[in-house]
Amino acid sequence: MDNFVYSQPVKIYFGAGKLKELSSIAEQNGYKRGALISDKVFVNSGLAQSIQELTPCIAGIFSDFSPNPMLSEVVKAVEKLKQWQVDFVVALGGGSALDLAKFACSMAHAEYGIREYFFHRQEFSVKGLPLFAVPSTAGTGSEVTSVSVCNDDETGIKAPLAHKNFLPEIAIIDSELTISVPPHITASTGIDALSHALEALWSVNHQPICDLWAIHSCKLIFANLEKAYSDGNDAVARDNMSLAALFAGLAFSVTKTAGCHACSYPLSIDYKLSHGEACGFTLDSFVCLNAAAENSRLEALAREMGFCNAEALADRIFEMKKRMGMKCTLDECGIEDVDALCQKCISHPLMNNNPIKPDMSQMRQFFENLR
Ligand code: ZN
Repeated sequence: MDNFVYSQPVKIYFGAGKLKELSSIAEQNGYKRGALISDKVFVNSGLAQSIQELTPCIAGIFSDFSPNPMLSEVVKAVEKLKQWQVDFVVALGGGSALDLAKFACSMAHAEYGIREYFFHRQEFSVKGLPLFAVPSTAGTGSEVTSVSVCNDDETGIKAPLAHKNFLPEIAIIDSELTISVPPHITASTGIDALSHALEALWSVNHQPICDLWAIHSCKLIFANLEKAYSDGNDAVARDNMSLAALFAGLAFSVTKTAGCHACSYPLSIDYKLSHGEACGFTLDSFVCLNAAAENSRLEALAREMGFCNAEALADRIFEMKKRMGMKCTLDECGIEDVDALCQKCISHPLMNNNPIKPDMSQMRQFFENLR
C-alpha cells in the first residue's frame, strides 16, 4: 500500500534555445536586476557576455571559482551579489556553478559565517536570493535539487549540504548548451543521470511518482546517450538527454541517491574519478546486487526495456561504459587498497538508502569482480 508526500516546487522552462528568453522570463516572474554566475569556460567562449547583452537586467558576471568550489569562493560571490544589489541570480554551468550559486544565494541574507552553515551548526532561518539554474550538461539534475557540494578551505573537507533554501526558484533547461560538450563529459554526465534514475527506483525511499520519472529517464538514456556521445550535434539525442537528466533529477530529489553515490565519494576523492565516472563504476554491479533484493521494479523495468532480466540490463550498462571509454576496472582507476575503499563505501550515509546494505565481505567481493 502506497503512502507518500510529493512536492516539486521548481518552475521549469524547457526547450532548445530557451536561454535566449532569459530577459522575458525574469520580467514575467517580477525580477529586475540579476547577476550571472558562470563557469569560466563560458566567459572564455564569450557566451556569458552575449547572455548579458541579450539580458540588460544582468548587472554583472562572476566566474572566479574552481571546478570544486571552495567556501572562500562562495564568500567572494556573495560580496559581488551585495555590491551589485541584485534581486535574482542566474547560474550557468555544470555542477560547480550551480553548487556555488546555491550556497551564495542563501549566504546573501545569512546571519552567521559560512562555516557555521557548512558544518551544520546553524540552519538558514531566512530565505536567500532566488536562483535561476541553467545546466550546461545533461547529468547532475542539480537544477531541481536542494543539494550543494562545496569544499572547506581550511580542512579540505568536501561535503554535500542539503537545505530547502538551496532549491532553485526556476530551472531553464536548454539542450543547445549541451551541443558543444565533449564526448567524455557527455558519457560521464549521462551515466551520472542513469545512476540517479536507477538509484531513485531502487531506493528504500522510492515512491510511485518518482518511479515514473526514473523509468522514463532510463528509457531515454538507453535510447539516446550513445547517440549524443558519438555525434554531439545530434540535436534530438541532446534534447532527449536533457529531458532524461531532468526526470532523473526530479526522481532523486525526493528519494535521494543510494549505493553507487555512496561509493562515488571515496572513488572521486581518493582516486580522482569524475563524479559521473565514479557513480558509473559500480552501477552495473549494484543492478545485479539490488535486483536480488527487490525483484519487482528493477526486473520489471529490465523486461519492459526488452532485456530477459536485470542481469542482462547490467551487462548492457557495462558494455555501454566500455564503448564510451569509461574506466571499468580497479587497475584502470589505480585502486590497490580494496579494503580501505570498501570500508569507506559501506560506512557512507547514502548506503542506508540502498535496498541491500552490503557487509565488508560482500563489498570486497563486489570490487574483486571489477579486477
Ligand atoms: Zn550524481
